[in-house]
Amino acid sequence: MAGTHKYDVAIVGGGIIGTAILYVLSNYTDAKRLVLVERRSAAAELNSDGKSNSQTLHFGDVETNYTEAKAKRTNDAARLVLRYCENTGAHAGKIIRRCQKLLLAVGEEEIEYADRWYGSFAHGLYGGLEKLRLDYVKEIEPNLIRGRKAAERIEVYRSNTGYMVDYGKLADSFIRRSKYASRRRGTCVDVLFDTEIGSVEEDGDEYVLRSGSAKIECKAAVFAAGAYSLLFAKRLGLADNLSIIATGGGFFKSRRVLNGKVYRVQLGKMPFAAVHGDPDMNNSTITRFGPVIYLPIGLEKGRPKPIDYVKTSGAAIMPVSLKILSKYGLFGLISRHMSYHMPLIGKKLFLNNEVRKIVPALEYSDISPAKGYGGISPRIVDRKKMTLNIGEERIRKDNAVFDISPSPGASSSLAIARSDAAYISSRLGIDFDKERFDRELGH
Ligand SMILES: Cc1cc2nc3c(=O)[nH]c(=O)nc-3n(C[C@H](O)[C@H](O)[C@H](O)COP(=O)(O)OP(=O)(O)OC[C@H]3O[C@@H](n4cnc5c(N)ncnc54)[C@H](O)[C@@H]3O)c2cc1C
Repeated sequence: MAGTHKYDVAIVGGGIIGTAILYVLSNYTDAKRLVLVERRSAAAELNSDGKSNSQTLHFGDVETNYTEAKAKRTNDAARLVLRYCENTGAHAGKIIRRCQKLLLAVGEEEIEYADRWYGSFAHGLYGGLEKLRLDYVKEIEPNLIRGRKAAERIEVYRSNTGYMVDYGKLADSFIRRSKYASRRRGTCVDVLFDTEIGSVEEDGDEYVLRSGSAKIECKAAVFAAGAYSLLFAKRLGLADNLSIIATGGGFFKSRRVLNGKVYRVQLGKMPFAAVHGDPDMNNSTITRFGPVIYLPIGLEKGRPKPIDYVKTSGAAIMPVSLKILSKYGLFGLISRHMSYHMPLIGKKLFLNNEVRKIVPALEYSDISPAKGYGGISPRIVDRKKMTLNIGEERIRKDNAVFDISPSPGASSSLAIARSDAAYISSRLGIDFDKERFDRELGH
């Protein structure tokens, strides 16, 4: 690509968020010229890839650390993805698959916590969430029971919204349907891979994005570039108070020992999911256990660029991170997880502290690090308030939007896209058919 190209809206980043935005703009607004620009060679090669995340469609019904408001938002958002898959036939294919999903409480503290959570709002919000008898659990997920000490009390809930999703394939589907819509409606949808946006500037009412010698001029720009969205916001003089703490999440794997997903009770308002066990949608012979958290020196997997980290988060990111981890009582959790990365002993610690809480009979030789799996989540910190945001962040100014979407961002992709499309269309004075969107994808 060379020369100057003009669009109504340019989207930077071809992960699940950028492609969902492309899908909603191309199908439900009358934007005439859209472009999506991705620096990698295909869509969703980073965090949205099937190997990078846990492939869960999060409804909030096994996330005991969510507030009622967040659980409700997450539930509504996930239903959009489910409905999209049902409407497009993806339901029967390789994009989404139904699976069993359990919530496991181990020991008195977790049992009491789960009971309170269930009684306070979860039972009311999620009619299909039920507490199971343990003799029934033995039938449907025997490895939760086998080898467990009699003294270790457990409680198990079953959700009726167990789905695994390959978000990489979902992103491909969003692109296909955007192109199809553009052919049907006579509009333009360009998708440019291997194209890295190096800079953004405001030029009157427009934004100019540069990639090498090529120039994209657009009336509105949406950055769905993960942690790099914040870097672009800062280049336009925005979000000076925000930083990112990049948190990596890796996995161990074993032979297939679980029939479905098993999430653990998350005590308090922890910003990370407790280690859970998941089948792998693309490899039916294994079970994955994770996330195993670590603190990387770069913002993206396979792109160790500490300089980008410092530009995005400020030179004081080290002391800020330490203060935040201390304020949120996360030192214990992080150091425990860091110990799981130690050679030899790490695997033993992970097995004893985490895996055996789920599958007590697994042995040392049964698990191994899942090489090539895992991703990096951008966690947003407000340096002025010294707060850690446990969910997504959206920065908007004039005709520019910057999305940073850690877990459960993929599950919320269509809700994020709907909100961005509403904002952009009102800014550009174009039509957004929200009623049709809600009729076709809402519940
Ligand atoms: C371990 C782990 C487990 C998770 N499990 C789940 C789960 O089970 N369910 C769930 O809903 N969510 C989960 N998540 C979160 C989920 O993966 C993210 O919310 C989602 O992938 C974010 O999508 P994205 O499009 O914002 O980012 P990404 O998929 O990271 O895409 C960003 C894209 O922007 C591109 N880009 C960046 N800079 C530029 C530039 N300058 N020019 C052009 N392109 C650029 C990148 O190449 C990349 O392709 C998990 C995350 C992790 C780390």
